[in-house]
Amino acid sequence: MRNWINKSVFALLMFLAHISCGQNSDTFSAQRNSMVKTQIENRGITDESILRAFRKVERHKFILPRYLPYAYSDSPLPIDEGQTISQPYIVAFMTHALTLKKSDKVLEIGTGSGYQTAILAELCDSVFTIEIFEKLANKAMELFKNLDYTNVRCKIGDGYKGWPQHAPFNAILVTCAPTKIPEPLQEQLAEGGRMIIPVGNNPVQHLVLLKKNKGKITEDSILPVRFVPMIDSKGHQY
Ligand code: SAH
Repeated sequence: MRNWINKSVFALLMFLAHISCGQNSDTFSAQRNSMVKTQIENRGITDESILRAFRKVERHKFILPRYLPYAYSDSPLPIDEGQTISQPYIVAFMTHALTLKKSDKVLEIGTGSGYQTAILAELCDSVFTIEIFEKLANKAMELFKNLDYTNVRCKIGDGYKGWPQHAPFNAILVTCAPTKIPEPLQEQLAEGGRMIIPVGNNPVQHLVLLKKNKGKITEDSILPVRFVPMIDSKGHQY
């Protein structure tokens, strides 16, 4: 009898533990679906492959634990080294602006938390990403490994110079703002390639979309934004 009671209590405890764990991940997934609906889809980004990527990538895994309650809020959040993880809508907007194909090779400048990288890795065959702060790059690399993003290569370095060994790139996405568009990045854009980059001094920056056709670059300023500056190894803005 006592044995039976012990077993029943154990089973009940396991059941409760299961429900409470399930509730946590369910809560995040409900928040994530609502984020996709209200912050992305309702604002006009309806490309199903992009929405699928945002439903899948767990933003709460890319942020500092103290911000967990805000993981799916409509705003950027602080990460280490005084940097930020971008607002989900801005990540979606920039991703959408690049009109990505599965076969594209993409370069990202400013890995930060790795969230934007993961979205790109859901959409494209290969993603290269550069982060100037060692701590951020190492943390992101660990996360890419744990989440099994085998199509991502990340390095610590100055993204102003791009990654010539792997150029040309079909798309380049820059998540830190220089005052002028870096020449090396323009050179490393493939024929037919697209680049999205915030340009300007704080607080006035613009997202600029560049396209390379027949070797010629065209530029379109598409949205006022606020990003962290693109810095050199001494911490000065480019
Ligand atoms: N894509 C990131 C956004 C991070 S904010 C995310 O989703 O979390 C921009 C990042 O650019 C910061 O982490 C900053 O350290 C990095 N950065 C600034 N200047 C850089 C440079 N010259 N080369 C590479 N990364 C740089």
